[in-house]
Amino acid sequence: MATVFVVGAGPAGLFAAQKIALAGHETVVFNRDVKPGGLAEYGIYPVKDKMKFGLRKQFAKALALPNLHYFGHVPVGSHSPINIESLRELCPAAMVFAVGAQGNKKLGLPGENAAGVYSAKDFVYFYNLLPPFASQDFSTGKRVAVIGMGNVMVDIARWLLLDCPDRKTEEVIVIARRGPLEAKFDEKEFAHIEMYLDRKAFQEELERVKERLAAVGQDVGKVPEETFPCLVKNPDQPAVDARLKFRFLSSPVEIIPGPDGRIARLKVADNILVARDGGTSAKTTDKTTDLDVDTLIFAIGDVHDQLVGLPCGPSGYVTNQGTEPRCSYEVFDPMTGKVMPGIFVAGWARKASEGLVGIARHDGETGAAHVLQYLAGLQAPPHSASPDEIARFLERKGVQAVSKSDLSLLGTVEEREAKARGLTYFKYSDDADMLAAIEQEKSKASEPVAQ
Ligand SMILES: Cc1cc2nc3c(=O)[nH]c(=O)nc-3n(C[C@H](O)[C@H](O)[C@H](O)COP(=O)(O)OP(=O)(O)OC[C@H]3O[C@@H](n4cnc5c(N)ncnc54)[C@H](O)[C@@H]3O)c2cc1C
Repeated sequence: MATVFVVGAGPAGLFAAQKIALAGHETVVFNRDVKPGGLAEYGIYPVKDKMKFGLRKQFAKALALPNLHYFGHVPVGSHSPINIESLRELCPAAMVFAVGAQGNKKLGLPGENAAGVYSAKDFVYFYNLLPPFASQDFSTGKRVAVIGMGNVMVDIARWLLLDCPDRKTEEVIVIARRGPLEAKFDEKEFAHIEMYLDRKAFQEELERVKERLAAVGQDVGKVPEETFPCLVKNPDQPAVDARLKFRFLSSPVEIIPGPDGRIARLKVADNILVARDGGTSAKTTDKTTDLDVDTLIFAIGDVHDQLVGLPCGPSGYVTNQGTEPRCSYEVFDPMTGKVMPGIFVAGWARKASEGLVGIARHDGETGAAHVLQYLAGLQAPPHSASPDEIARFLERKGVQAVSKSDLSLLGTVEEREAKARGLTYFKYSDDADMLAAIEQEKSKASEPVAQ
């Protein structure tokens, strides 16, 4: 039997690890966050309790496997005491990187570094209480622009309009490069915010863009039935609270900060649509408009984190270009022109921002199947470090890793806190608090029992 390292404990990493462990191999998971789950824990909308509880149960089942070992609070990369080279010193037979897509897509706009400008992933990490984002400044103001027209935009608008405790947001303006017929969100998700749609402003916006849509054969009259069915369901219903606006065929071109360094205006350029390869592409024109906004959130997808140390190209971690199904899971080093033997990627680390949890699970399991095939082809697996040796190695490197038994202590404390606060679920939003709670629980367990 071999030892396989899995880096990342989101859905892709955990389901990959489960499959490899069930095949009988020692499987060691290293995870940046104290807790497992990745975006399933820290991205999925906070009130989707049923889904989150279900996923936590499945993750706990995987972690309960005796030959699956967990080291949380261990980021791997050039920014950490543990990088790919240090993992290699421990001689795993194979490594799967399921680290998601942790980089931020930058458009290189003037003013992009102004205060009040955020990437969607960081912002959802903040409201889902992932350390350290939970304690950083993600303040939002009265007028928030969200760039992008997918489900992540809907989550953010929902948070700002409905669930954000400070309820400061007076208006959310969705800015979309393309037209209303190319909205990417699901009807079920949009239903959570449709009552905020400013219908009068929406009709005016359709009027504003209809000729540009018609130029590529898009009929604005089809918008209600195709992408905004709420307009068909309740055609005459006025918005309960008209605070959600759309600006179509627009691209951000400049962020203009105010004297306090926070975004004060966003310059957007009008786009036209150009027919291309049976579809359309958006082309920016010279016509610009300034919008008064004090917060800007980019919900345009994520990119891979270069600091992890895997070879990175324009579309993310570089994989084998071959045509066999396993190739796109094998990491390829353009410097040597060769596949990196035994190094795989899965989930959003393979294809950034691709699909829901079910897809990430499937991708993790498919990646694991390729790893198992690779292991079967090895003449003799290397003599890898044991979990105890790995724990000592991390300690020597100054890393305070969190084990499976630590996770269970943390779970006990959080359950107790939830009960005490009358909540269905409680989670700490700071690594130091989690580590302290674990230590406290450990010392309680070692106290002599009073006679
Ligand atoms: C805002 C938002 C809302 C979503 N809502 C839904 C929804 O409602 N339903 C649904 O089905 N799907 C939803 N998704 C999609 C779903 O979350 C993803 O499909 C899935 O989580 C991707 O899994 P993954 O394991 O590839 O990556 P991730 O979930 O991102 O997991 C990556 C893991 O790698 C770890 N990691 C990162 N960097 C390092 C490092 N350097 N070293 C060690 N570990 C590292 C992280 O700690 C994390 O555990 C949503 C996504 C977003 C962004």
